[in-house]
Amino acid sequence: MTETTQTCHYAVLGVPADATLDAVREAYKRLATRLHPDRHATPAAFRLISQAYETLSDAARRERYDQLRASLIAQNEPRPPRIGDTLLGPKNDAAQRGRNRAYRLHVGFSDAMLGTPQEIQLPEEITCTACYGRGFDPSDRPMVCDGCGGAGTTASQSLLRTHVTPCGACGGRGHRFTMACTTCAASGTTRATKTFSVPLPTRAASGLVLRLRGAGEAGSHGGEHGDCLVTLTVTPHATFDVHDDDIVSVVDVPVTTALTGGAVEVDTIDGPKAVKLNPCSREGDVLRLVGHGAPRQSNPHERGDHRAKVRLRFPRTLDEHALGLVGELHAHLVSRGEFSDEDRGEKS
Ligand SMILES: [Zn+2]
Ligand SMILES: [Zn+2]
Repeated sequence: MTETTQTCHYAVLGVPADATLDAVREAYKRLATRLHPDRHATPAAFRLISQAYETLSDAARRERYDQLRASLIAQNEPRPPRIGDTLLGPKNDAAQRGRNRAYRLHVGFSDAMLGTPQEIQLPEEITCTACYGRGFDPSDRPMVCDGCGGAGTTASQSLLRTHVTPCGACGGRGHRFTMACTTCAASGTTRATKTFSVPLPTRAASGLVLRLRGAGEAGSHGGEHGDCLVTLTVTPHATFDVHDDDIVSVVDVPVTTALTGGAVEVDTIDGPKAVKLNPCSREGDVLRLVGHGAPRQSNPHERGDHRAKVRLRFPRTLDEHALGLVGELHAHLVSRGEFSDEDRGEKS
């Protein structure tokens, strides 16, 4: 057996032993660009992947190589029975979709009402950039495990059945190396966070579950990602009430501003808005901010209004100077007949 035969070409390219020719070609291309000697890699690392590709891309050579790999077992163990499917590689599984995961998203009242997209960060396994997902240092050479002949499993026969167990010599990898990648501890993946945008419908409510396709855990053997199921918790607003398509709130106005009129700031789901208050405004008057209410239930592209009810704030105390000014104002208004009998009659 030559040195080239003992090299685990599958591990070198980071593909399973049942990889298709396309997958082999793809893996080689990816590694060749990264491990090219022009890009600070050693010529040895590049030669290794070239040899692996030459062997695995030629059907006849690959078959011979696979047979030699499998025969390595015979040299080491007293002929354990072979299980057909696990003969050629440790990972013969079909592509498996990644698992779904759950996320609880807390959304503020205004964002939920307007359907503002939210960003969430989810942990993700990504291919290790130090070893290109292969688990060993690029200057190392993985060898076919002589405990399992690259199968990753060993089998033993008892009276009634065949027991298949992961190969203890290689940990089920099917190959062995001396320098594990220190970045990923030989796992081939590292943990990172990825940002996903969660689109919300307008008037999103607590308990709503949204499915983010592809935001779940990574699949194995080329399987697609699972989904992320996002459950909403909407924080209720402390002072806003929703009446059909309108949002109703209370706006505090100093009694003096109510008399003179002027600009008043009203908080809406679009943020604070300046509104002009008419002179002589009264408690309970309603300031209507057209189009600043909730998205309409009948048509989310249209908006209801925001209605702010005026609540008058009075000073807690008046000093002598203030009393004088108010007295003066009162006398002036009386002299103009502002508090005439007619007016009082209207109120009672
Ligand atoms: Zn690594
Ligand atoms: Zn092994």
